[in-house]
Amino acid sequence: MAKTGSGEKGQPDYGWRFQGKIVRLCEDRSVQMDESSHLMERALRQMSMEYFALDRCLQCGICTEGCPHTKLETNARFSPRSFIQKARLGLLDLSGEDLWLCTQCGQCKLICPYEIPFLDVMISLRSLVVEQGAGYVPASIKGVLSSLSSAGNPWKEDQSRRGEWHADRDRSGNTSGRQDAVMLFVGCLPSYDKRAQKIARAAAELLQRAGVAFDILGEAEVCCGESALRAGDQGTFERLKAINTRNLAKGGAKRIYTLSPHCYDVMKNRYDGLETGGCQVYPFVILLHELISKGALPVRNGVHKRVAYHDPCLFSKHHSIITEPREVLRNIPGIELVEMEHSGEKSFCCGGGGGGVWRDTARGERLAEIRLEEALKTGADILATACPYCLTMLEESARGEERYQDLKVMDLCELLREGVFS
Ligand code: SF4
Ligand code: SF4
Repeated sequence: MAKTGSGEKGQPDYGWRFQGKIVRLCEDRSVQMDESSHLMERALRQMSMEYFALDRCLQCGICTEGCPHTKLETNARFSPRSFIQKARLGLLDLSGEDLWLCTQCGQCKLICPYEIPFLDVMISLRSLVVEQGAGYVPASIKGVLSSLSSAGNPWKEDQSRRGEWHADRDRSGNTSGRQDAVMLFVGCLPSYDKRAQKIARAAAELLQRAGVAFDILGEAEVCCGESALRAGDQGTFERLKAINTRNLAKGGAKRIYTLSPHCYDVMKNRYDGLETGGCQVYPFVILLHELISKGALPVRNGVHKRVAYHDPCLFSKHHSIITEPREVLRNIPGIELVEMEHSGEKSFCCGGGGGGVWRDTARGERLAEIRLEEALKTGADILATACPYCLTMLEESARGEERYQDLKVMDLCELLREGVFS
């Protein structure tokens, strides 16, 4: 895509060349096109506003300093500052990997003194590439988007198996269907992935122990759509959102708790119909914190370990959820909570956001490896987190590596379960 030169007589002198056609932007920088698909027009309209905002960027480079990619020795080529500069000059190469390196962790947005909406620009550009074929999409992302679109989950798994993790559990004293039941929005990884299912089981056991009535949607739940949205597939996101919104409304629960910060973020910020229908969405860790605070979840057993807590970016940088997970951990007797070099709002991304969890990244180029090194430096026995993507990224990178063999990666629900039950 190249920025056009001076306009024809009487035409605005601002525009982009897209698939051989000149797309003109009006003086107010909204799109003026004769023939265009609805999606293309929407993407370009959105982009024109965001590109206008890019004009404010002073090229100070603060964002690049904070971007986790600059810590990678082998992949230091990605820089939000230079990405913005190329975008402004119309020199972006959408046929390369760059567009897919950003994990949308939000660090640059947090520290930019001029509030440049870099994440929105990335999503709009990905949208042009994914929905309009204007550039390169990694094969693994294409595969996931196709599965999300056709099957409602990233692996084309059978939808009827979505609630299986729950079906084989002890259902005695089952509280589902009660008027006061809360809804547990499980998410794709804890529904289908054998490892992540342990998070869902631990969460369910904790709820039962605390006497909290809960339901799951089971096969009526589909992916929250966050991966589709951040990969630029707005159409698939809207379809998934519509299915979940309809089925959650049918379920009748007024409080929805998500096991993943990714589901929470997208349902909180983009499921506009949910909250207007009277539902409130919360992360599951907030419920745990509440239950512990009011004494409904007594923790009897000590877990005598040194624990480093990895903040999921969507909690710490996007929603300021920093103290509650730590208080849940501190409540478990015996745990010595330690902080890594980057923590809280300045946490270091695991590489799983923005579709990163679906990309194939070679060893030596993974952000998760830097995070594991930070955990090792604290002498932690356990690296705890509160996100199925983070858990997967960290555990996958530690797998088979001698130096990490004494470092166990666990979800906070699993750790709390140990304190409550074992
Ligand atoms: S996006 Fe913000 S932090 Fe980055 S170079 Fe521009 S003004 Fe500086
Ligand atoms: S969102 Fe994170 S990964 Fe993306 S450019 Fe900003 S700091 Fe870098």
